Amino acid sequence: MGKLNDMNHATKPATPTATSAPAFSLCVYCGSRPGMNPCFAQVAQEVGQWIGQHGGQLVYGGGNTGLMGEVARATLAAGGRVVGIMPKALVEREFANRDCTELHVVDNMHQRKAMMAERADAFLAMPGGIGTFEELFEVWTWHQLGYHTKPVGLLNVEGYYDGLLAFLAHTVREQLVGTWQMDLLTVGNQAPELLPRLVQSAGFGQSEQLSRHM
Ligand code: AMP
Repeated sequence: MGKLNDMNHATKPATPTATSAPAFSLCVYCGSRPGMNPCFAQVAQEVGQWIGQHGGQLVYGGGNTGLMGEVARATLAAGGRVVGIMPKALVEREFANRDCTELHVVDNMHQRKAMMAERADAFLAMPGGIGTFEELFEVWTWHQLGYHTKPVGLLNVEGYYDGLLAFLAHTVREQLVGTWQMDLLTVGNQAPELLPRLVQSAGFGQSEQLSRHM
């Protein structure tokens, strides 16, 4: 079982795979529910597997349910590190994934999101609900304001985000969003293509090396 930490305690590796420094750290935002389409869980597993197989670290909300749980379990199964960051109210409701390599319990959502952003080299949003939307828009906004320069990706599994992307194109036509802001969002339909692109633009590895194992 992963070590349960609060913000004031140093973290220690809890598994043998946790001892070496990860090749990169990817923060994944996705549904706390599985959704209707079985492809969502399948792609969530693919993402976790890719992270683990490439010696990476998953940073995520620390939950064990839905697509979040799928990504985390697949990362661990493939030998990757998993950093879960969860507000204590959710831990008390027993939503925490205690198998995380590091599980951080923080006081509130603000601390959680700040820590998730800090621990990541890049961000990826997958199918999810309002929690996922909020997290995606926040890191995207932080990027446009220059609070960070980490790549932000959107994995449009099975056209889940087609409606959102059409709406965003509308906002650009209406001149309330600039094309330069859209350029800060890296969109892809396939995990094996988008993941290496994101990690490489965060400054880690070569695209060919990263895509070789898919
Ligand atoms: P949603 O997309 O609404 O299902 O919310 C998922 C996102 O919000 C995740 O990326 C989490 O960071 C956070 N979140 C929402 N519900 C939970 C939960 N039960 N356990 C952990 N994190 C959650």
